[in-house]
Amino acid sequence: MPHPQAFMARPPLEQIRPAVSAGRHWKNVGMCFGSLVFLAMVSLMALPSMKEPDTAVGEFDFHPESGRPVALMAMPEGPEMPTEMLTEMPPEVPLPDIAKVLPAPDMSDPSPPDFGSPHVEAAIELQKGDTVARVLDRLGIEAAEIAEIVEVLADRVRLDRLPIGQALIVKLQRLHEEEKPTVLVGLSIRPEPQRAFNVERDDDGGYSMEEEVFEVAPRLMRASGEVDGSVIASAEAAGVPHGPLAEMLRAFSWDVNFQHDIKPGDRFDVLVERSWTSDGRPADDGRVLWAEITTGGGADTYSVYRFKPRDGEEFFYSPEGESVVKALLRTPLNMSRISSRFGQRRHPVLKFTRLHSGVDFAAPPGTPILAAGAGHVIEAGRFGGYGNWVKIAHDGNLATGYAHLSRIAPGVKRSARVRQGQVIGYVGSTGLSTGPHLHFELHRGGRPIDPLTMARTAQRTRLAGKDLERFKAQVAETDRVRETAATLRGEESN
Ligand SMILES: [Zn+2]
Repeated sequence: MPHPQAFMARPPLEQIRPAVSAGRHWKNVGMCFGSLVFLAMVSLMALPSMKEPDTAVGEFDFHPESGRPVALMAMPEGPEMPTEMLTEMPPEVPLPDIAKVLPAPDMSDPSPPDFGSPHVEAAIELQKGDTVARVLDRLGIEAAEIAEIVEVLADRVRLDRLPIGQALIVKLQRLHEEEKPTVLVGLSIRPEPQRAFNVERDDDGGYSMEEEVFEVAPRLMRASGEVDGSVIASAEAAGVPHGPLAEMLRAFSWDVNFQHDIKPGDRFDVLVERSWTSDGRPADDGRVLWAEITTGGGADTYSVYRFKPRDGEEFFYSPEGESVVKALLRTPLNMSRISSRFGQRRHPVLKFTRLHSGVDFAAPPGTPILAAGAGHVIEAGRFGGYGNWVKIAHDGNLATGYAHLSRIAPGVKRSARVRQGQVIGYVGSTGLSTGPHLHFELHRGGRPIDPLTMARTAQRTRLAGKDLERFKAQVAETDRVRETAATLRGEESN
């Protein structure tokens, strides 16, 4: 019989249903003894790296990339801890021998299963390479029963799509029977926040499944703080979820260069709308309604409001109703530093002074290069000292050029249309170049101009008429609700 130490499990993350209501079969169990067994199981399953089990419903989330649960902000209106079992749990419990806690099998009465015997309930996370069947096998469930459980589950749950870290809440029961020492009486799995599937063992030993649907409602949350090092790290530390953080960075990216412009003392502030289930779980990643950032140590402040014009895409606008989107990106690379500016200079390879007709951005080889603006490709290929070169024509008699690429992206060919921000190639050192960098040019009327000056003054669209009226009303409403929004991670919400 597999020893319970092979559970590979963690302390209960939460119980999808309170143990008291789930204990239909177990109401005769002596609470004292049940708790003791539960404690024993929990302490056996506790991994050394695990923090104290303060994991009430709604206090954790799943990491967007690893899928592992991560601690979450305290929920302002979160439900109470559902069970008396969890609250009594001390952080450190000496590990007892589970065999001494569980009763010895009663050989005098080998059948039928005794549902009055001690039970345990635990949350188990799927590890790398795990399947539901493998987990149940480790728990000591019989193969025939596993097959039945998996069949019932597979009816509604894509078992091959479960992520690492997916929690299974299992309810196990010891039987007074040596051949079948452990029986699964319940299994809950919640592949998405709005939906849980609960498998239960019937009195006749078969399994059935019911679906539990949780209602979802939006809530407003606000996070703010000082930028300490990087905007990303500071906003993450303040509890801003991954999606809204990416939105915020993008909303400011036309105005702010996060590597150059942020100085000590700069602050960010963001209002996020996120959907939560009725039992306090985030149902989505959320979206930014408003955000503000200062640059230059408080010298400049940028505010953006989310808005959807009647005939346009939903995106961000300044408080005056000017779109944050510019016709051209300020920097056609995400990670870079300016290594040489536009103007006269001594050429590093040719060794004589001439006009440097663009801006050089130093970046690691292979860094994606983004089309600075929407347009169509007019040149793509080898071009002398420029190496691999792409030139894009934009509205307003403008064109941008990208030189020394290690590789031109597939589909970027003469006359192909490109979107703003589309990857058109990768940083390299082809042609006359001393090291990996992007040489970026901007042409107006066929003549090179300074891209950095031009990007700053590039045209923006402004809301007008009915759109502007609606936008102003929305700004007022956003400003109003911002003051009462719950705060993420206990940060100050000045
Ligand atoms: Zn250059």
